[in-house]
Amino acid sequence: MNQFQYTRVTTPKAAVTALSQESGTYFLAGGTNLIDLMKREVVVPERLIDINKLPLSTIEKTSTGLRIGAMAKNSAVAEHDLVKKHAPLLSMALNAGASAQLRNMATVGGNMMQRTRCAYFYDTSMPCNKRSPVQAGPDKGQPNGPTGCGAIGGINRMHAIFGASNKCIAVHPSDMCIALVALDATVNVSGPKGDRKIPFNDFHRLPGDTPQKDNTLLPGELIMSVDIPTNKFADNSHYLKVRDRASYAFALISVGVAVDMKGSNIHDIRLAMGGVAHKPWRLTEAEQFLRGKAATEANFKQAASIAMNGAKGYGENDFKLTLAPNSIIDALKTATKTA
Ligand SMILES: Cc1cc2nc3c(=O)[nH]c(=O)nc-3n(C[C@H](O)[C@H](O)[C@H](O)COP(=O)(O)OP(=O)(O)OC[C@H]3O[C@@H](n4cnc5c(N)ncnc54)[C@H](O)[C@@H]3O)c2cc1C
Ligand code: SF4
Repeated sequence: MNQFQYTRVTTPKAAVTALSQESGTYFLAGGTNLIDLMKREVVVPERLIDINKLPLSTIEKTSTGLRIGAMAKNSAVAEHDLVKKHAPLLSMALNAGASAQLRNMATVGGNMMQRTRCAYFYDTSMPCNKRSPVQAGPDKGQPNGPTGCGAIGGINRMHAIFGASNKCIAVHPSDMCIALVALDATVNVSGPKGDRKIPFNDFHRLPGDTPQKDNTLLPGELIMSVDIPTNKFADNSHYLKVRDRASYAFALISVGVAVDMKGSNIHDIRLAMGGVAHKPWRLTEAEQFLRGKAATEANFKQAASIAMNGAKGYGENDFKLTLAPNSIIDALKTATKTA
């Protein structure tokens, strides 16, 4: 058993101060990922800062859209009337994730920060550059373990087809984040140097040479809330999740679609995919192609083909090269009610 200190804070300022004081310190939200990582000794904190008492659970309408507090539970967000009315894609994506029990514990901030489900990452006897980076930094939370990437040339059925590097081919696991990137959300954070806003598409990052970094949050920063701008997508949204079991399974492929229809034409559209990259993968070129076009199967096929530019399989996950475009087409048909 590894010993750690436990502190509960009640204000964001106290949380930021506590986190920035010592290395090896982690925020504890719902605990559904962090405690798992601690049990497996993938993460070995010296101190946990319990942020469950922070007043950051509010879900409210603002003059520019919706604001969702970082400590709002995934189930509360999914079932909230404002979210169902103004961002149904987010509600659908959340309800496709995990299980009812987990959604009751998991928070918005924790969901954004959850680590990859790559099996090599969770097994400290296996090589993994994300868990044990070659250029190990001062982060005492990283236990030792072999470096390298077990998944490249290994078991990589769940892994990336876009944006991977020769250091890491892991995928980002969240369903919620696929909806948030599609809806052009913004993350509000508070840190030792003050408050700042991060466009959701810039929050998560590709692995490159530093796969240990999942996101662009700076040391000591606390996620405060997420903003979703007002949109006209409420009538034509769909989240399609393809997985091994009907529930309690991460996405092999997921597609988030939000459309503003004008008659049978696509006036505006947002498209994003999960299970394909180290970050929620926005399909901007396919969106651009579909804007102003008729909602037809031929156009959807062309958009899916554009979306697949640059895709690359790693052996066991080659099936995603076929599954992904087919899923895009299916999701587009359902969202535009042309199925
Ligand atoms: C069996 C199982 C199945 C699952 N299936 C799915 C699924 O299908 N889809 C899906 O999307 N997810 C799935 N999950 C993951 C689950 O959604 C995440 O574990 C959960 O969202 C994490 O939220 P949490 O509040 O429990 O975070 P915690 O575990 O408490 O924290 C996770 C990380 O976030 C950091 N953190 C938390 N809050 C903040 C904040 N406000 N600011 C900065 N850092 C913060 C913590 O320090 C920690 O590093 C599954 C999990 C399990 C165990
Ligand atoms: S894919 Fe990434 S997380 Fe998985 S073993 Fe390779 S380096 Fe580790």
